Amino acid sequence: INVQAQLRSGVAIFSLQQCVEELILNSIDAGATCVAVKIDIEACKLQVIDNGSGMCLEDMEKVGLRYNTSKCSSLEDLDNLHFYGFRGEAISSIVSLAEMVEISSRTKQSVKTYVKSFNETNALEVFEAQTVRPSAGTTVSVYNLFHNMPVRRKRMDPVLETERIRQRVEAISLMHPSVSFTVKKENSAHMMVQLSKTSSTYYRFVQIHGLNRAQKLGEVNYEHEQFQITGHIGREGHYNNSLQFLFVNERLLLKTRIHKTLNCLLKRVSGAARQNNSPTSYPVTSSPKQKGGYDLHGIYVINIKCHYSEYDICLEPAKSLIE
Ligand code: ADP
Ligand code: MG
Repeated sequence: INVQAQLRSGVAIFSLQQCVEELILNSIDAGATCVAVKIDIEACKLQVIDNGSGMCLEDMEKVGLRYNTSKCSSLEDLDNLHFYGFRGEAISSIVSLAEMVEISSRTKQSVKTYVKSFNETNALEVFEAQTVRPSAGTTVSVYNLFHNMPVRRKRMDPVLETERIRQRVEAISLMHPSVSFTVKKENSAHMMVQLSKTSSTYYRFVQIHGLNRAQKLGEVNYEHEQFQITGHIGREGHYNNSLQFLFVNERLLLKTRIHKTLNCLLKRVSGAARQNNSPTSYPVTSSPKQKGGYDLHGIYVINIKCHYSEYDICLEPAKSLIE
């Protein structure tokens, strides 16, 4: 078996949450307006169903091959990455870490639904499915992820992982208000995430975090020669950083210097407000908490729009750190 591929995949996909994230981003890249996730955390099993463009037979033959991507075919494309994906690594990594993966897909132009299965080392032939999908879209089913990584499996805390998946799906959804997202636990009626289509990031925030918190937000709209900042920011409250969302070209970022800067700014603004005894001043009794060097001081959902050459999304494999 391909040892190198397996070792590399371990870096590319290191949690169930990340597997869910990569599959959802593929669905968004495929123009889906409806993304449904089903998971069984204990069994490390998950399924992502979308109504996106689907894949034709030719795409299906290539899907899952290492470095296969339909999103980036020349070096020039790299300067203009409006897709989340461009490396063609996610599916092949998931394939090499799961006991089995099955992809079924149909395009709008075709009456046929194609299915391709993989067991950890081989891709099986693409075949035509007996049951035709009612409409275009793709379903990726992953069985027994990390079956070959007992330590990773053992370390996984189902409660924590569930929470991480919920938070990440919600965060990603903020930049895609016109897409509906659901995350459901298999064999349970419980919906972990249930977000219907809405008209704006603000209303998506309301759906997730409630009107009370959303009302604390003010609009941000700043234009600069090289970039544009849009979103919502609120200096009130002492929420933890699970209410701070920063995106660059709609890509979620985790713990960057920009987060730090934003928090410093928020702190200064609310500090000034307190000194002025303004009615919006921060309650003196609730001192802001300090965690991991980040000042937890406010809410924001901010997207920085800039040219793709202004930053390097490859600095970290999960593409969530930039400079
Ligand atoms: P990347 O997203 O970097 O292109 P992936 O490994 O995530 O790489 O996916 C490989 C290819 O499979 C994609 O480029 C795309 O052509 C196809 N693909 C994956 N998921 C979907 C989907 N949900 N709908 C349509 N095509 C998909
Ligand atoms: Mg991808």
